[in-house]
Amino acid sequence: MTDAETTPRTGKRVLLANPRGYCAGVDRAVQTVEEALKLYGAPIYVRKQIVHNKHVVRTLEAKGAIFVEENEEVPEGATVIFSAHGVAPEVYEQAKERSLRAIDATCPLVTKVHHEARRFAQQDYDILLIGHEGHEEVIGTAGEAPAHIQLVDGPDGVDKVTVRDPEKVVWLSQTTLSVDETLETVARLKQRLPLLQSPPSDDICYATSNRQHVVKEIAPECDVVIVVGSRNSSNSVRLVEVALDAGARAGHLVDFADEIDDAWLEGARTVGVTSGASVPDELVQQVLARLAERGFTDVDEVTTADERLTFSLPQELKRDMKAAAARG
Ligand code: SF4
Repeated sequence: MTDAETTPRTGKRVLLANPRGYCAGVDRAVQTVEEALKLYGAPIYVRKQIVHNKHVVRTLEAKGAIFVEENEEVPEGATVIFSAHGVAPEVYEQAKERSLRAIDATCPLVTKVHHEARRFAQQDYDILLIGHEGHEEVIGTAGEAPAHIQLVDGPDGVDKVTVRDPEKVVWLSQTTLSVDETLETVARLKQRLPLLQSPPSDDICYATSNRQHVVKEIAPECDVVIVVGSRNSSNSVRLVEVALDAGARAGHLVDFADEIDDAWLEGARTVGVTSGASVPDELVQQVLARLAERGFTDVDEVTTADERLTFSLPQELKRDMKAAAARG
């Protein structure tokens, strides 16, 4: 007898988004901290949350990571890891001044945007960086060329833009924005600046767009979409917005399964479930278990992309791991 035959069908179902959860950049950043702890021993200092997820941060803290806001909080000579969101060049300088062993866990797809910012600044372009004011990634990217970069915080920020030469202006973006809202911002910018150039390749990363795409597919069928992710996780917050825009009747962001309010499920037949790029799948499994307890036992996984990208660990860490292995 198959599981399907033994499980009573309740008429309540879950549409489980795939892809969801960990992306290649987050996986690499978390592994960087874990490997550094093994190699150098605790404590390892991490500047800012390594990725924007409460559970991940707590788990790494329990293993000996100490999260700080700035390099000044790291004892001289200690090891510091920079988070996946990237840092401005001055942060590396500060680390050097304090003789810190710095390991850079910036996602390579964020580093790519830093390179673009540097290159266009060297060519004396005005750079319009579409992103959320105050987000760590935006602070890091803007720090590459502060004199050339101005922030455009969504479509409403377009009217404030002023450029020196409308023929020499390019837009770049934060990696974790809403794809649709960014297109709208760019369209508005182009109305004002018809010669605005686009980045050489998409800055919104594959993980962000894939997670939004699958949510758009499931949302119209969902009475409620539950997104697992933390409030400071840009891509997780975007998933709730995308679900609502795409037709979900309701959408909620939860860090943990026990935050699900039973009132959200009253009268619901179909619940969508997904998770942001910084969320380990065990948290999604806990949400599915909670939903199953409430009768949502049928789980249909909806897959719209096959993700295989992986990134290797930071060079500086790999070098030390190799040296340690050679010493035996
Ligand atoms: S969400 Fe995208 S840019 Fe951010 S860490 Fe993941 S792959 Fe990199």
